[in-house]
Amino acid sequence: MRQCQYNQVCGGCRIRAEVVTGDLWESDPACYLTDEEIGLGQARQARAANA
Ligand code: SF4
Repeated sequence: MRQCQYNQVCGGCRIRAEVVTGDLWESDPACYLTDEEIGLGQARQARAANA
């Protein structure tokens, strides 16, 4: 599984993710960075193409 390239310094907010989505392990909904900025743009596009 690929992670945000800033995960080691940020970690996201698990509480916001759980409150908004009901899943503690979802993405932080308050993150303002794009998929490309966090280094996941190509991986998500490839997953969507295979779905
Ligand atoms: S996606 Fe955003 S909130 Fe999550 S770890 Fe990366 S920078 Fe932080």
